[in-house]
Amino acid sequence: MHLTDEQRNEIDAARERSAPTRRATVPALEALLYQPIAVLDHGFIRVIDYMGDDAAVVQAARVSYGNGTRRVSEDAALIRYLMRHRHTTPFEMCEIKYHVKLPIFVARQWIRHRTANVNEYSARYSILDREFYLPAPGNLAAQSPSNRQGRGAVLEAAEAAAVLDLLRADGAPLEPGRQGLARELARMNLTLNTYTQWYWKIDLHNLLHFLSLRADAHAQYEIRVYAEAMLQTVQAWVPMTFEAFRDYRLGAVTFSAPMLAVLQRLLAGEAVVQPGSGLSRREWAEMMVALGRDPRSE
Ligand SMILES: Cc1cc2nc3c(=O)[nH]c(=O)nc-3n(C[C@H](O)[C@H](O)[C@H](O)COP(=O)(O)OP(=O)(O)OC[C@H]3O[C@@H](n4cnc5c(N)ncnc54)[C@H](O)[C@@H]3O)c2cc1C
Repeated sequence: MHLTDEQRNEIDAARERSAPTRRATVPALEALLYQPIAVLDHGFIRVIDYMGDDAAVVQAARVSYGNGTRRVSEDAALIRYLMRHRHTTPFEMCEIKYHVKLPIFVARQWIRHRTANVNEYSARYSILDREFYLPAPGNLAAQSPSNRQGRGAVLEAAEAAAVLDLLRADGAPLEPGRQGLARELARMNLTLNTYTQWYWKIDLHNLLHFLSLRADAHAQYEIRVYAEAMLQTVQAWVPMTFEAFRDYRLGAVTFSAPMLAVLQRLLAGEAVVQPGSGLSRREWAEMMVALGRDPRSE
């Protein structure tokens, strides 16, 4: 991640400023405020602003006249109850605003989350940083033979070097002396690994929905690393909510009704096998993985 001296100075100046307020603030998130957390080779996320804290969730759930909080253990139990039973609106009372620098192909996945407010850097009016995402060799992998949406074996060193050479060749001006095209047209030839930037504001409920999809093992590595960096900020901001989210959403698995029936038969000591179980081979394998069993067992 490269920041110019001017950008660093602006961040430092913003971190110097503080003002008294009656609003709730969270010291652990204040410590992170404005600081970029590096992601991929040139990307980052940084928290620009936030509203509310764990107490705001509790306050809204209790529709309280004051801050709504009771004993820490009672508040944590209430937040866990809300998360467990998908009583989601109290979590919408908190908001957070990020500045994100990310490759365009990651932005295309990210923008599918429609419940945020977004303002993107304009490649029509401004010149994009000449920065392109180049995967680390360990992340250069061939197409997975079994998962159409995923990657398989990591490329051999020579093959990885050849791919990186091809990727590096993109973006270099071929004939810098020519008149060239207006930015609004020239950008049509940008490669999808070009970095863009946006401000992205979202409420806590929808942020957790985003994170449950994008911090998941099924999400592409390049967006997952952004989600993992954002999880750090959520943990600092709303630690009780983070713990409930980790226990009831991130680390939880959902069993369908047929899966539950299989589980009940297994617990009763029955030797259930996939054929005749009511589960497809794929569902069976998913369930066995969730139970920590060999997915090929039948
Ligand atoms: C692993 C993975 C693979 C994917 N593969 C593909 C793919 O191949 N092709 C593809 O097109 N997309 C793909 N997606 C994107 C996916 O289909 C969703 O568009 C994306 O995850 C955003 O989810 P969302 O709509 O729940 O989120 P948000 O847009 O944040 O919406 C949150 C919730 O609000 C409600 N909502 C918001 N807007 C509307 C609306 N207009 N109408 C009704 N309800 C609304 C819905 O309940 C929604 O769940 C993939 C996502 C993942 C995580």
